[in-house]
Amino acid sequence: MHEVIQQLPEIVSNQIAAGEVIQRPASAVKELIENAVDAGATRIEVRVVDAGRTLIQVTDDGVGMVEADAKKCFDRHATSKIRTADDLYSVVSKGFRGEALSSIASIAHVELKTRHASAKEGFQLKMEGGEVTAELPCALENGTQISVRHLFFNVPARRNFLKSDAVEMRHVVDEFHRVALAHEGIHFLLFHNNNELFNLKAVSSRKRIVGVFGAKYDERLVPIEESTDVVTIQGFVGKPEFARRTRGEQFLFVNQRFIKHHVLHRTIMEAYEGLLPRDQFPLYVLFLSIDPARLDVNIHPTKTEIKFDEDRSIQSLLLPAIRRGLGKYAVAPSLDFEQETGLNIAPLSRDRVVAEPTVQINESYNPFDESPVGNHPSLGATRGGGLRPGRGQIDAWKTLYDSHIMAEDAESTHSVRSSAVGNGQQDLHEAIDGSSAIHRPLFQLNNRYIVTATKSGLLLIHQHRAHQRILYEQLVQQLESPEKTTVTQQLLFPAKVDLNSADQLFILESKSWLEKFGLVLEQCDDGVEVTGLPAEGDASAESLIQAVLEERQEEVAGVSREERVAARLAQTMAISVGKALKAEEMADVVDRLFGCTTPAFDPFGKTVILNFDPQELEQRFR
Ligand code: ADP
Ligand code: MG
Repeated sequence: MHEVIQQLPEIVSNQIAAGEVIQRPASAVKELIENAVDAGATRIEVRVVDAGRTLIQVTDDGVGMVEADAKKCFDRHATSKIRTADDLYSVVSKGFRGEALSSIASIAHVELKTRHASAKEGFQLKMEGGEVTAELPCALENGTQISVRHLFFNVPARRNFLKSDAVEMRHVVDEFHRVALAHEGIHFLLFHNNNELFNLKAVSSRKRIVGVFGAKYDERLVPIEESTDVVTIQGFVGKPEFARRTRGEQFLFVNQRFIKHHVLHRTIMEAYEGLLPRDQFPLYVLFLSIDPARLDVNIHPTKTEIKFDEDRSIQSLLLPAIRRGLGKYAVAPSLDFEQETGLNIAPLSRDRVVAEPTVQINESYNPFDESPVGNHPSLGATRGGGLRPGRGQIDAWKTLYDSHIMAEDAESTHSVRSSAVGNGQQDLHEAIDGSSAIHRPLFQLNNRYIVTATKSGLLLIHQHRAHQRILYEQLVQQLESPEKTTVTQQLLFPAKVDLNSADQLFILESKSWLEKFGLVLEQCDDGVEVTGLPAEGDASAESLIQAVLEERQEEVAGVSREERVAARLAQTMAISVGKALKAEEMADVVDRLFGCTTPAFDPFGKTVILNFDPQELEQRFR
């Protein structure tokens, strides 16, 4: 009577499993392609409609299934790939858990057509939400075709969670790349809405990489080869000069399975030490072959993490192998001198280490003590809240400037309506407007900081961060404005930026709102053609596109991708550290900075202004 435990119906447990195995159309594409690979196919054709929402169809020329197997393959834990737990230690197939088809069938309309070499005709089976709706013979060549329609039709929560077609399609392409790179001996085709995206004939591994990423990649590859009793490493790494600030071209495979492995990634990065600036990532497509008995295969089906027995010995093989490879090809180091390390400091100081100014300041002094945002917000916190100032922060600024301006006002002719300086942002802006920076003493320190004195104190402004803040607020304003406020610098000759297909899709998907930032572009072969740039700054089209690509992540708590991209663009466009500024330029930065809603921090939460107040200065002279 108090008994409450029941066995879940199979359909329910399948749907639960589906939640883990099939997160988005790309997961179904991956599982179906892998099944085709496991079936020994030599040609695999993938057709996707509406990024997989409407249809995912995978056709292979593999072994096919006899009728009895076809009827079983949608059962939970139905697999032909292992029989006993011991088999786990020798598994070489992609799948072995028998969960993919049962999961997919429980949340979609599925049609299977298959023909085993021994069968006279094909067999067709239709299912809806896990229920068989038709079984009939059909005409078919040897092999298997699985069509998945209306994925998540009975799981609205999942369906609503899906992103735009461009984003979902990028995931599909990513999965397709991973399998295609690992199986160069198989002919792969990918169609989206009947357009052929890839037609990769069976080739050598190098040619496959070129097929996936584009002809330009051929000259970028350095072959790597190394082997011991335990492991064989082979594949390619990219020449350092083609490294990028964005990830996405790093592929590591173990026994032809794509994996992510932080330790090995770091080992690879270590091999490039001294050849690359810190924030750049080289391309690599590396294949490790290891006896399956040495792998912990008992991993989650969708997980790309993997454990080795031999982490260390692989590392100690990988590092010198890559170094040797890079060395053999006499790859000259090419450091990026555009980096923000201030290498174009005035000639006199070239041989000297320029120390940061060593003015002793009270670090704990904080003009925004009352601010709810805090004075040193972490990146995360700032991105969440700090990009938009809190009320308290604005008030804190008002107070800070009130005192400067009132003191100034006593002697100068600036007409600040000091009586009107009450509460709120409006007043702050009026107050600041009344004391334009052009009337203040201004000079530049180490081509890095703008120093300005107010009657009562001293402000040290970080030029790069200040300009970032200004540009960021301007870009966000352009983004949000219903009217067209953007000024674009039309390019006489469009600048072509080469992109792999995933990046290209990603950029094109953002095209309309990038235009609001002044970045105007069109699709072209192997990339995009930039026809207009933001009017301010002289950042190259390439660097701006790379900046956009840095914010690929969908969700970052509370901050939209548009805003994050705005921050990245501002960072790229801003006056660099090390740039000498004319008086008018400094005045412009200072004026516009004080017109911002959150002048104290750059969009990433770093301090823009140091303020030395009168008492502070007095103290120092004691
Ligand atoms: P797993 O791949 O883990 O075994 P799946 O649910 O993906 O589980 O597939 C179940 C079984 O269906 C496979 O073990 C295989 O025997 C059969 N199967 C699936 N897809 C194909 C295919 N394209 N060709 C031949 N057999 C297939
Ligand atoms: Mg499978």
